[in-house]
Amino acid sequence: MIGKDTSLTPEERQYLADTIETLETEVFVDGLGSDHFGALDDNEESQADWAEYVRRMGEADLTGIAVPESHGGPGGSFVETVLAEQAIGYAGTIVHACQVSLSQHIGQTMYQHGDEHIHEAYLRPILDGEVVVSQAYTEPSSGTDLPSIGTTAEQAGDEWILNGEKRFIDFAQYGDFYFLPARTSGDDGDREGISLFVVDADTDGIDIRDDMSDWHGFRGTGAAWMAFENVHVPDANLVGEAGGAWPYMNQELNLEHLTVARYCLGASQKALEVAADYTENREVNDRPISDYQAVNHEVAEMATKLDAAYMLNTRAARVLDEDGLSAGRMESAMAKWYGNDLAHEMADDCIQIMGGIATTDNYPIERTQRDVRAGRFLGGASEVMKSITQHYAYKTLTSDEFNPAYVGNELDEVPWRDAKASPPADDD
Ligand SMILES: Cc1cc2nc3c(=O)[nH]c(=O)nc-3n(C[C@H](O)[C@H](O)[C@H](O)COP(=O)(O)OP(=O)(O)OC[C@H]3O[C@@H](n4cnc5c(N)ncnc54)[C@H](O)[C@@H]3O)c2cc1C
Repeated sequence: MIGKDTSLTPEERQYLADTIETLETEVFVDGLGSDHFGALDDNEESQADWAEYVRRMGEADLTGIAVPESHGGPGGSFVETVLAEQAIGYAGTIVHACQVSLSQHIGQTMYQHGDEHIHEAYLRPILDGEVVVSQAYTEPSSGTDLPSIGTTAEQAGDEWILNGEKRFIDFAQYGDFYFLPARTSGDDGDREGISLFVVDADTDGIDIRDDMSDWHGFRGTGAAWMAFENVHVPDANLVGEAGGAWPYMNQELNLEHLTVARYCLGASQKALEVAADYTENREVNDRPISDYQAVNHEVAEMATKLDAAYMLNTRAARVLDEDGLSAGRMESAMAKWYGNDLAHEMADDCIQIMGGIATTDNYPIERTQRDVRAGRFLGGASEVMKSITQHYAYKTLTSDEFNPAYVGNELDEVPWRDAKASPPADDD
């Protein structure tokens, strides 16, 4: 936030400031500091690095923030969750924020729908920072269109046998387990019949078909295209009801929309700060570039839109805190598309006002631009978020009192024009 954030309580503002300080002094130091961010980008991160990172995050109470203390969590709020994600995007990198985001929304799904085995064997280790989490939702035949997943799980005694493929999976090579949906009944495209499983990474039959780590952004996560061939999963690792996972996934995505947008905005805020400093110190024609109105108005627009995006995001998180994870679908969708489109626009505009040097790794801007790009479709494409927004917005905006017969026949009877011609009597 560039201005004073009155959408947050004083305690929440303090939480954000304290979290940034913790990250800068206790997490992104000693081998995992900013000197290490380049190694991430070169795909030189290791299992040990990620294990150490999640250990520090667990110790700092930043994993699974909204899981109650009764289940070993920090007992925080969804507002605190998005503030922490902003702080990680700002102080670390997008991929650091992504790993912790997985702990927030997968942690919530495990807490809300998992049984004691899921809580003890998987949720607690997430909260204690003992495991690297991987979410394997996307498939070759189904990305945005999740009900079309082709991975199947067939029950055989007290096990399920999994077959299928997943792709673009972050932490595929470093994760301790995969949290994934599979079809257990019904037909392709049905929302009924999808089940969620936790699959230990060392289970036989899981293969990396293609190492995708060398992609545009999000480097350092060990991303992959995976194959699951006759993978045996114990019945105890089913999360919630068999075939009933669609509502759980929607709730999870409702929170993921906010965390993904928020950490991308945090990273773009850092880019904006670097760009503002640079343009004040770089001279062109004996004047700092920041003297040029075309440049400083760009900064003004970015600062204004960033504050708006943060407030939209906080508002949606507060709806989840007040009404639960099934509520606020429109508010969450608004925050997602606006926040992720803006984060990308800002990173690009920062490059524009800095010029060529911003496209090199002398500054962190080009990496941010690559990293935030995927946010526009990751965890919910902007187009889909706008479809959700319009669905609910139309319900609020339209009225039964509007007579459809007016449309096209406005010369016969127009209520607004008639009201203007004879204004109501003034009672005063
Ligand atoms: C860096 C990165 C990290 C990722 N990490 C993970 C991960 O850890 N786990 C995981 O499961 N997946 C991950 N993904 C995959 C990501 O979630 C998918 O790329 C995303 O869901 C979109 O799916 P898709 O690529 O198959 O595109 P498609 O579903 O084919 O969609 C392509 C485009 O079509 C348009 N479109 C699609 N549907 C609609 C619609 N209903 N209305 C209007 N327009 C539409 C949108 O423009 C969309 O971007 C990652 C991807 C990237 C690039």
